[in-house]
Amino acid sequence: MHIGIDFDNTIAGYDSLIRLIAVENGWIENTLPGGKRNLRDTIRHLPDGEGKWMALQAEIYGPRMGEAVLIDGVGKFLQECRDKSEKVSIISHKSKYAAAAPGGVDLREAALAWMEGHQFFPDSGFGLARENVHFADTRGEKCQRIAALGCDLFIDDLHEVFADIDFPVSVEKILFETEPGMAVGPEIQICTSWSEIRARVFGEDRGSG
Ligand SMILES: [Mg+2]
Repeated sequence: MHIGIDFDNTIAGYDSLIRLIAVENGWIENTLPGGKRNLRDTIRHLPDGEGKWMALQAEIYGPRMGEAVLIDGVGKFLQECRDKSEKVSIISHKSKYAAAAPGGVDLREAALAWMEGHQFFPDSGFGLARENVHFADTRGEKCQRIAALGCDLFIDDLHEVFADIDFPVSVEKILFETEPGMAVGPEIQICTSWSEIRARVFGEDRGSG
């Protein structure tokens, strides 16, 4: 089995970091309730909200990438893939530089350094081959890469990826969606946690592939 996984907000989590930066800038009170969608919408509705949101993106994926967290359950999933010798590719739609900081930090290098820091590459860690990490400039290119690499299934937090015209039809789609209420087509399996993804992928019903 060849398992493809998205990176931002699927493997690396930014929710608390976004909240922290928004509070540091005095954009929100730390007591603002709700999940990531509410937080994002609140920031975007501020004066120059789009500008603030873009600046924040440049921060979290660039200089402050180190503060992103490994999402709960990802580690256990990747260890199981390693133990079962399932091939894993990480395929991320990530530009080299943030739109709001064109001369700034190389976002792809920042992501790779973060993976290194979280033991993605050594055999004693998740044993992922570095050449199995792919970055695409556009969503279409990402989908074409998923097809070209021959992934059997793909895990992503954005249903728009699965809806893309270039997303390969034969690839199984798992949407990692922690907030309830997302309406998607029957061809997409929604999982609200990585333990649920693990059960779905390695459950009794599908054997070891
Ligand atoms: Mg994502």
